[in-house]
Amino acid sequence: MDEEFTENPRLLLFAFAITALFAGIEFIGGRYTGSWALVSDSFHMGIDALALFIAATASSLAHRFRTFSSKIKTRAAFLNAILLMTLSVFVAFEAYERAWISRDILSIPMLGIAVIGLLVNAFEEWLLRHQAFHDLNTRGAYLHIVGDYVSSVGVIAAALVIFLWDWKIADALAAFLVALLMLISGFLLARASLRELKN
Ligand SMILES: [Zn+2]
Repeated sequence: MDEEFTENPRLLLFAFAITALFAGIEFIGGRYTGSWALVSDSFHMGIDALALFIAATASSLAHRFRTFSSKIKTRAAFLNAILLMTLSVFVAFEAYERAWISRDILSIPMLGIAVIGLLVNAFEEWLLRHQAFHDLNTRGAYLHIVGDYVSSVGVIAAALVIFLWDWKIADALAAFLVALLMLISGFLLARASLRELKN
């Protein structure tokens, strides 16, 4: 695979730093605003940060330990996939519980954080356009990026709905959407990494 040569460890490390920082902001913001959708998305971003960190580490090893690093990458991707799917189940259960309880949600700060999330996604996509950092196969990486966008837009829409109509169940619905997308990208990643492991 020639693309490994094009991977830039510094770029990946930079993307990791941004993603990890935003995951932290989103988690704290989610707790502060009372939005489970934000907390859910912060889990997703946290796992993405982990994937970026592993990719950065693996690609800085790549020149000297290429076979070793690609083996680690494949196993790490599989673990990431399991983590994504497990967390998606947790997120969905918690969203279901919260759907029945009406809590106060600070929709304006929620909206602000969700918009920053969308910008972080867009910036990262631009930064890593030529690097299949997320997943093993490019198609999976592409679908994952689409999933990241849809999650962000879902949280933004929920914040707007809560602000305009005080319809708080929108937060739980957005969290369900985040969970669904985590499940799908986890499944695709698991399938791709299992195929790679068999080769
Ligand atoms: Zn993602």
